[in-house]
Order: sequence, then structure tokens, then C-alpha cells
Amino acid sequence: MEYKANKYGKKRIVIALGGNAILQRGEKGTFEEQYRNVMNTAEHIADLILSGKYQVVITHGNGPQVGAELLRHEAGEKMYNVPAQPMDVAGAMTQGQIGYMIQQALINILAERGRPDIPVATVVTQVLVDKDDPAFQNPTKPVGPFYDEETAKKLAAEKGWVVKEDAGRGWRRVVPSPDPKAIVEADAINALLDKRVVVIASGGGGIPVIKEDGKYKGVEAVIDKDLAGERLAEAVDADVFMILTDVDGASIYYRTPQEKWIKTMPVEEAKRYYQEGHFKAGSMGPKVLATIRFVEYSGKEAYIAKLGNELKALKGEAGTKVVKEGKLEFW
Ligand code: ADP
Ligand code: MG
Repeated sequence: MEYKANKYGKKRIVIALGGNAILQRGEKGTFEEQYRNVMNTAEHIADLILSGKYQVVITHGNGPQVGAELLRHEAGEKMYNVPAQPMDVAGAMTQGQIGYMIQQALINILAERGRPDIPVATVVTQVLVDKDDPAFQNPTKPVGPFYDEETAKKLAAEKGWVVKEDAGRGWRRVVPSPDPKAIVEADAINALLDKRVVVIASGGGGIPVIKEDGKYKGVEAVIDKDLAGERLAEAVDADVFMILTDVDGASIYYRTPQEKWIKTMPVEEAKRYYQEGHFKAGSMGPKVLATIRFVEYSGKEAYIAKLGNELKALKGEAGTKVVKEGKLEFW
């Protein structure tokens, strides 16, 4: 693969941070807990930046944070008559919340390591979806609090929500998860990158918007952050797309006696395993699909690795690498 450096002689890498970068299993979600995790994450990102080889663009999930935000809205409305805001606004709020934590942590760490000159900024990002996306006819993604059946059905009638029973745990609102098509703020993000800014964008999969009569409009939906991260990687013409999560990479026969962890996976094999259902919907599935899209779009490499293993993965010492052509290899 021909190495195309950007004008600063660095490879442009988009990293998609998983939920564990901000909140660990079993934690409640206090600011202190989240900030501690974000500091740890920012140390790893700083390692990548200070390696001198990469221009870094960051995206991240927001599942627990947007869930908590929606709860606050609901409680606020009930207890204090403070109007709840729509989901797109809640998504924007979490982009600000999480972006703030990452950018402050990163700025502090870079300064501590002698590079106070490296600018970091968050872009509140809208992601365009197709208003005719079939997902709008079939909402699947549970959001917000659990209700008993009666309350759930009452809310559904009142607010026009779709509610579903969630694995015996109670009733929840479900919203559509449409496929991301494009990053609305692509030009703004690229302008920042041209000025050497470390950009945090498309948080939580971006704020889902549709275009109606030539105008953008927020919708009540959520977008998968890995699929949106891939659109971000396309939009900034990334050289590398890397998804960081809480497992070593992708495996086939996950959690069975035949489990095998993938080291290198040509895109054709990735598609085959994806079709065969090796990667669970809603977790590893969209990650593998996102890497397939990036490799097919760019002809370049994509990685799925554990948070903290970024540099090791780039050296081929950890994680799963998806390539256009090559040999299928397992660990
Ligand atoms: P994130 O917040 O990083 O997006 P997810 O929970 O959505 O995290 O996805 C990571 C999870 O995917 C892992 O913790 C693992 O349990 C699950 N998973 C499902 N299928 C596979 C697979 N085939 N190989 C590896 N992990 C898998
Ligand atoms: Mg996920």
C-alpha cells in the first residue's frame, strides 16, 4: 500500500473510543469516575500523538451518558416542570459533555509532556441519515429508563413513542438506528485538521439529522458510533481507521470452544464471517462492518483493538487488522 502522508508528514488516524474509555463496568457514572477513565484514555491518545507519526481525530460512544441525560430530562419535567428536550438535543449535550472531558484531559496531559502548543477541540457534529431509511419503520434501539407495561403504553400514546419489552427487564422506549450517510461538519473538521488541531467529532455516532426541503432537521434516533466513525474517516480522508474497545479484537466462534482471535482479515473474509453471523449485532457486528466499509472505500487498513493497545496494533503486535488483500491470519 502506498503511504500517503498528509502535509505535516503524518498519517491521519481516526480512533473510535468505546464505552470503556469513559465508563467501566459496574461504575455509576459520577463525574469523578468518568474523568478518571478519560484521563487514562487521554494518556494513550497522547502516546499516539507524541509518537510523532499520526495526526489524530477522535470519536467516541455516548450510550450510558445519553441514557442518563434522558433520565434527567424526564425527572426534571416531572418534578420541576422543566421541559424535556428531544433526543437530538440530548445527543448534542453529551457531545459537549464528553468532548469537554476528553479535550481538557488531553490538553493537560500534552502540556505536562511538554507540548502545550498542540490544540485540541470538539466539534458538535450532525450526521446525515436518509429520511427513507427502513430503520424509521422498525425502531430497535432501546433508550432511556425502564417502565412497567402500563406506564410504557401510556407514554407511547402520549408522546408517540414506540415501546417494547426488553429481555424480561421491563418496558423501554425504542428508537430507530438509521445508517449514517455523511458528516455535515466535514469541511469545518478538515479546516481544523489543516491547522493541526486534534479534533474530537461525531460523538455518540453524531446528532442524527435528515434533509427536508434543503434544510437539516434533527430526528429522534441514534446512530451507531462505529459506523458514523467510519463516515468521519472517509470525510477526513484518513489513512488509518481504528476502533478501540474492551476486547483484544474480533474473533470467530466468539465465546465457544472453537473461538479464534483474528490477527489479519482480508475484506472478503470479513464479509463472509459477517454474513455467517460471527460478530454480534449491536457490538462487534457494526465494528466489523465499519472496517469493511473503510477498507473498501479507501483501500487502506482498519483495526479493531483493545484500548491501550493502539501502538502495538499499528505494529502488528495486537488486535485485528482488516486489509484489502492479504492472508487470513489468527493469533
Ligand atoms: P464498545 O462500547 O467498545 O462499542 P461493545 O460492547 O459495543 O463495546 O462491543 C464490544 C463487545 O463485543 C465485546 O465486549 C464483546 O463482548 C462483544 N463481541 C461480540 N461478538 C464478538 C466477536 N465475534 N469477537 C469479539 N468480541 C465480540
Ligand atoms: Mg458499541
